[in-house]
Formats: sequence, C-alpha cells, structure tokens
Amino acid sequence: MFSKILIANRGEIALRILRACREMGIRTVAVHSTADESAMHVRLADEAVCIGPPSAKDSYLNVAAILSAATITGAEAIHPGYGFLSENADFAETVEAHGLAFIGPTAEHIRTMGDKITAKTTMQALGVPLVPGSAGELATLDEARDVAAHVGYPILIKATAGGGGRGMKVAHSEDELAEAWSVARTEALAAFGNDAVYLEKYLDRPRHIELQILGDTHGNVVHFGERDCSLQRRHQKLLEEAGSPALSTKERDAIGATATAALAKLGYRNAGTLEFLYQDGQFSFIEMNTRLQVEHPVTEMVCDVDLVREQIRIAAGEELGYSQSDISFSGHAIECRINAEDPDTFIPSPGTITVFHPPGGLGVRMDSAIYTGYRVPPFYDSMIGKLIVHAPTRAAAIARMQRALDEIVVEGVKTVVPLHKRILSDPEFQRGDYTIHWLERFTSRKY
Ligand code: ADP
Repeated sequence: MFSKILIANRGEIALRILRACREMGIRTVAVHSTADESAMHVRLADEAVCIGPPSAKDSYLNVAAILSAATITGAEAIHPGYGFLSENADFAETVEAHGLAFIGPTAEHIRTMGDKITAKTTMQALGVPLVPGSAGELATLDEARDVAAHVGYPILIKATAGGGGRGMKVAHSEDELAEAWSVARTEALAAFGNDAVYLEKYLDRPRHIELQILGDTHGNVVHFGERDCSLQRRHQKLLEEAGSPALSTKERDAIGATATAALAKLGYRNAGTLEFLYQDGQFSFIEMNTRLQVEHPVTEMVCDVDLVREQIRIAAGEELGYSQSDISFSGHAIECRINAEDPDTFIPSPGTITVFHPPGGLGVRMDSAIYTGYRVPPFYDSMIGKLIVHAPTRAAAIARMQRALDEIVVEGVKTVVPLHKRILSDPEFQRGDYTIHWLERFTSRKY
C-alpha cells in the first residue's frame, strides 16, 4: 500500500479523498492555488504545496507544477478527483512515466472513452446498446441530413469532444438542421478546440441512469448499481438518487451484467461510470466517465462501500476481494448539490460565507469544504458542497432530506437550497415521475 498520496484537486472532493487516505493510514499532500491558501484541504493535509496563481490553467491544470510537488514531497500516487486533470490521458501517462501510480484507469482507456464516437463504437462492439445515430463523425451537412432522415426527427447534434452539456443542439425537423449543425460546431470549437460532431436520435422523455463500476488489475469487474441523475438543468446534474425510482431489480441486474461483461472484456481498471438514457424499458449508452463522479456518495450509502478507498486499493494492485453476489443494496439515498448560485437564474454567487451550519442527525452526510468565514473564490466551479441522506425507503429519504434542508444554514452567498426544497415537496418528484426534461420545465414554472 502507498504511504503518501498527492491529491490533485480542491474543494469537497480533495477533502473526500483526504478522509479516505487518513482512515487508511496514508499521508496526504494537498496542492493549491494562491486563491486557496486557507482552504480546508490545505489545512487538513499532512503537507501542502502551492502550485500557482488562481487561474486553474496555471495551477490545478499545471501538470509540471503538480509533478514537481509530487517529486519533492515523495508522494507515490496521485488521485485526480473529478474535473481538472481527471480525464486527461496525457496527464495519466505522464504520472506513470514519472514512476508514480495514477489512481484511475489506464491512459489508453481514458483516451478511448474521452472521444465520444470511439467510446460508442467500442461499447457497441462489446455488446452495449446505443442511441440510434450516425456511425461516426459527420463530415458534411448533407451527410447529417441523410442520417437524420434515416433515424427520424427530432435529432441531436453532439460534439465528439463534448462535456458539460456543451456543443449539443436539437433539431426538431429538417428546417432546423442547418442551424443546429452550425451552432453545435461553433460551440464545440470554442469550448474544446475541436468542431467534430456526430448525430443521435433525440429521446423525448428519457431518464439519465448511470452504473457505477469498479475493476481491479486481476480481471475482476463488479457494479454497484445505478444512480438516477435525470434532474438536470442545461444538461448539468442537480439532484441524484440511488436507486432509480424507475428501475426494477431485474432490470438493474440485466444492465449490470451487460456492463460488467463489457468492461471485463476491455480489461478496465479502477472506477468508471457508464451513462445511459433509459426510455420505454430500453437502455441506450451515451458516454463513459473514467473517474470518480460527483454523485458517488449515493452509491456509497446504499452499498455501504468507500469507493475512494477501493480506488486506492486497486491502484496499489490489490484484488477487489469480493464478487458481484457480495454486493447488496440497502435503502435509498438522495444527494442535493449545494451550489453558490442564484436559485432562479443560476448565476454564480461567490463571496464570503458569513454563517455555515451543516445539518446532522441519523442518515445525514455533508460533503463540503466550506466553513464560517470561508471565501468562495470566483475562479472555480460554484458547487460548495453536497448534502446526502440515506434512509430505509425513498419516502423516508425524501422526508429526511427535507428535514436536513430546513436545518442547513449558509449565509453570505446565494445557494440553490430554496430550489431543492421546492423540488422535494413537488408531488411529481415525490412519485418519482420525472425525466431529464422535468427540471427545466419545473424551474420555468411560476410559483
Ligand atoms: P456531456 O458529456 O456534455 O455531459 P452527455 O452525452 O453525457 O454529454 O449528455 C448530457 C445530457 O444530455 C444527458 O444526461 C441527457 O440529459 C442529454 N442527452 C444526451 N444525449 C441525448 C439524446 N440522444 N436524447 C436526449 N437527451 C440527450
């Protein structure tokens, strides 16, 4: 096992990784920008190294500075968290070339899944069902027109390098195709420096259901069930549940078996998430995330597993030591992302937190790196914490989340807490009756 790990991230996820390391008796090295000098992950780590100015590209994305920090502190492994360098294949490769362990999959698998077309063709070859669409990148608008006519409108033009919901445009009919085509390409070029696009059938009422997978370096692959992440605005997740209110145990077992068989064939190692759209009882793969996800805690709560600990054990070469039949699911978990944003406009609201009081009690978990007096910097993501509850049933989890949302106090910045309260008290949400389009409609409703 490693004796020292460098955590190449910030905020709640840096703290989350640090906590797992501490419980495993592993020393930690925090890295931070000058904007994060008094951040919680810096205070709690055994060692901390400043790696640059506030801008992420000069600090949390600065590979040379991070590797120097690992070298001078004698760290043996790097955990990238999510975001920043976590899905950067070149970074994973460079880390390993320096004789350090990368706590994640191989650079080759990150690269394969980072390109959405390659990811889809790879998964299809492994027997995973896809959304109908173009076989690969589309070179011309004429080609797009032909494929669209074949799969039928509405369709979605998507960037192959896509992420964060950018470079994605719907066309409801052929009249809208030319515009969707050019807007998606322009957006993709601006966001990713790559204007390659492909086309998918646009599903009108799917749920976003994803599967948590772990593979070790000995050929064992297991899944930890699904998370329902259908509550999204601008294709960004806001509230997640495990399990999905829509899925039966039989369906979970079936998609789980397909997914684990595919990843075992691929020789996949460490944590990964397969994302699907689910409609009319059909799963369609859309993408794979080759890293720990923001919403991993809901899985941890229902499966009673520490996924970060498992990631570290796998990176150290240990065997999982359990099989699929050892994994069981207990109760229901919900996560509310707490973003420092206006709850109506979603405009970020950085500033100083004048009062922070976290909720507590049975089945309540608060993953956050904020504290009273903490200044939310304007340079990074606006998510300042995650509130997670676990209870024996979904109804009890909803009641527990409502109670926890009533208890939480975050003053000084605006947060999405009022929006979460509205969602949790909505009858449709309470019935589990929602798709990926539900939240957009809900937030535009007058109340
Ligand atoms: P990104 O990597 O940008 O997050 P994804 O492919 O994961 O892109 O898609 C993000 C979200 O966009 C999905 O969770 C879903 O809400 C929506 N979406 C993606 N593909 C489709 C589709 N074919 N039909 C309908 N909605 C889609």
